[in-house]
Amino acid sequence: MRHFLVCLLGMFSFVNTTFAQKPVQPSSSEIYHSLQKLNFLGTALYVAAHPDDENTRLISYLSNGIHARTGYLSLTRGDGGQNLIGPELRELLGVLRTEELLAARRVDGGEQFFTRANDFGYSKNPDETLEIWNKEAVLGDVVWAIRHFKPDVIIDRFDHRSPGTTHGHHTASAMLSVEAFDLANDKSAYPDQLELTATWQPKRLFFNTSWWFYGSEEKFEKADKSNMLDLDVGNYYPVLGTSNNEIAALASSQHLSQGFGRLSERGAQDEYLELLKGNLPKDKTDIFDGIDTSWSRIDGGEAIGTILNAVEKNFDFENPTKHLPQLLEAYVLLQNIQDDHWKKIKSEALKDLIADVTGLYLEASSESASTNPGGQIKVAIEAINRSDASMVLKTIRIPSSDASLNPNIPLKNNTKQNFELLLNVPSDTEYTSPYWLKEKGSLGMYKVSDQQLIGKPETPRAFTAEFEMDFNGTTISFEKPVIYHYAKPEKGELYQPFEVLPKATASFSDKVLIFADGKAKQVPITIEANADNIKGEIQLCHGDGWKVDGDTQAFEIAKKGDKKTIFFTLSPPENESEGYISPILKIDGKETTKELVTIAYDHLPNQSVLLPSEAKTVRLNIRKAGEQIGYISGAGDEVPESLRQIGYSVRTISPSSISAGSLKSYDAVVVGIRAYNVVDELKFKQHFLLDYVKNGGTLIVQYNTAGRWDEQFENIAPYPLTLSRDRVTDENSEVKILAKEHPLVNYPNVITASDFDGWVQERGLYFPNEWAKEFTPVLSMNDNGESAKEGSLLIAKYGKGNYIYTGISFFRELPAGVPGAYKLFANMLSVGKDGSQ
Ligand SMILES: [Zn+2]
Repeated sequence: MRHFLVCLLGMFSFVNTTFAQKPVQPSSSEIYHSLQKLNFLGTALYVAAHPDDENTRLISYLSNGIHARTGYLSLTRGDGGQNLIGPELRELLGVLRTEELLAARRVDGGEQFFTRANDFGYSKNPDETLEIWNKEAVLGDVVWAIRHFKPDVIIDRFDHRSPGTTHGHHTASAMLSVEAFDLANDKSAYPDQLELTATWQPKRLFFNTSWWFYGSEEKFEKADKSNMLDLDVGNYYPVLGTSNNEIAALASSQHLSQGFGRLSERGAQDEYLELLKGNLPKDKTDIFDGIDTSWSRIDGGEAIGTILNAVEKNFDFENPTKHLPQLLEAYVLLQNIQDDHWKKIKSEALKDLIADVTGLYLEASSESASTNPGGQIKVAIEAINRSDASMVLKTIRIPSSDASLNPNIPLKNNTKQNFELLLNVPSDTEYTSPYWLKEKGSLGMYKVSDQQLIGKPETPRAFTAEFEMDFNGTTISFEKPVIYHYAKPEKGELYQPFEVLPKATASFSDKVLIFADGKAKQVPITIEANADNIKGEIQLCHGDGWKVDGDTQAFEIAKKGDKKTIFFTLSPPENESEGYISPILKIDGKETTKELVTIAYDHLPNQSVLLPSEAKTVRLNIRKAGEQIGYISGAGDEVPESLRQIGYSVRTISPSSISAGSLKSYDAVVVGIRAYNVVDELKFKQHFLLDYVKNGGTLIVQYNTAGRWDEQFENIAPYPLTLSRDRVTDENSEVKILAKEHPLVNYPNVITASDFDGWVQERGLYFPNEWAKEFTPVLSMNDNGESAKEGSLLIAKYGKGNYIYTGISFFRELPAGVPGAYKLFANMLSVGKDGSQ
């Protein structure tokens, strides 16, 4: 990224975020279910590209039906998708969708992993994907995930043999999985990883096929299935009081940002797994057939299995505490096992069971939601045993600080113990924020320097309380992250992560400032205090040629949580120019330059994300005709705000208010993205819009998806127009001007090839591929190796006015401050005002 700042920014550092959910004590049948999982020693890994690609039916079946450790490796965090529930896009959407995946896994019982690959947006084929991703690095992360999780079986969501038939990320995920299956066990592949983990050979690799990949159910029916497993995953689980499909639907429904909320299903359900590598199981309904998944698979495991299988067999649902002596005995034996992998996993599971069967509740909660490095905070400790088992709470400490207590007190049945710890937060504690956003990455890759963090869904917490307990001579430590909890009258008790934040953060309300003339603008910066009584200075860094009046301003904020807005006057250079502005806050000798973004939704734990605070500044020499623009909102875009920035007066038109003649005061009317897909009322108002054009108006319709358009809106345009799925995803692809003399590329701004430089993410989507002769195609563009697409910008005279249909991604380019996109849009709004038509 071009980024020249007049003043040098201090190094930025962050770290840390994790979820805090209200702790739930399991019932006897849920404890029994955990015991069943404890006694199964098999592992499955599901691999795909995005959050929401995963087959939750299969993940839930493996986790709850087979009781296997089940992981989902999503190569990306889904940054390139859309957001149906809020404003988060790009990296922030990646954070939100990471949390949706974790919420899905809490429902279906799986674990979640990622690579460093960034979802950069739609990709037509895996070659392009793997070039943008840095194939070697992402492949290394898949190998790392396999070496770390050690799956017996791997299941790919997508087919590695059919590039071009689906999103390039999808095919790439399968190709990398196939390659990594062999490399994970190859000592010469990624040898650096082997200092931290060991090689691993999975036994089987499958492709989770379905009729969809065959084109139709009939074709799939006839397909050769000799190499396939057929699993009925429609199980009903009496222990859980629900069926596999119901769990799966609830898990999928966590992907609310993608509109995945759905009805639950019940009944039998087949899933097909095509074997790609390894040997075909004899029993084609058992994915683990022939693989030892009992305690015997580990040296010294047999004795543990004998104890724990007996507990499972004779489980006492009325009094699970009865099994504590056997669980403790198994725990002691497990500590002598040489296999560190299974020792760690099963020790954690056993500790949970020991707490579960005794109703043991341990909590460490901070007095407020956040503090700062060097700060001090009280942590309330609650410890209670709700059984007749004898146990002693020996010590409580927070390892990354000096906080500790030695109560050495027996926890008697249902008698609560409360303590208070004083937590001195070390001044070098890193801020709470997603680790993968700590350093600036590239278009296709996050930058993560610490190999141990790669793959983790979240940043490990800074502060965890460790409770050392004694159970009749057996010492066990329980770790509980420090959390913050509070009650809201309308929502009940809420838990959230305890966070470490800078004393103050600063943000711009507009991330792109367009200077369409030479005049200076007042730039507001909002400072938010994350501590009481802060005093400091703020300075605004800016690009070459830009000027700020007043170098530094002082500020004071009395209360944590309060905000203050400071104004700087910024003057643009004479000529066209792009730059960035960024504030530096100086408080108590410490500099920060961060913006704090909080992501809060009811289905997810709150997330704090610290990002570099900056805004793009663009000096444009743009000409325009007309002033009054009407905007009919569609699925949501920021185009109106962008047009206001270059001096248009934009009014939002509610579809219900459209009537004969109601639009005549507008110089142009713009229809927001996918409006005809999502605003049903437009069906009844379309003739008024076309009448407006007939009488001399300009109507600009931005992209809609095919389908509903055809069914409901035969008269969407004044002349026939057919939408297709044609898109141009390479934002650097060459754009040719077809209608060189047309006012759209000449008035009032002359558009040249350089106006298509510096675009973001893509050129456009859902271009029409057929149109009536009345339309003039203005531009031609295409992705590498494809035929020319001429439907991106179409204009037709209708009556006295002009109708424009465009699939160009103005909704991405304008908010990103792309100068050429502004000029082209200004020309569309100015059409018919040059006196020539
Ligand atoms: Zn996907």
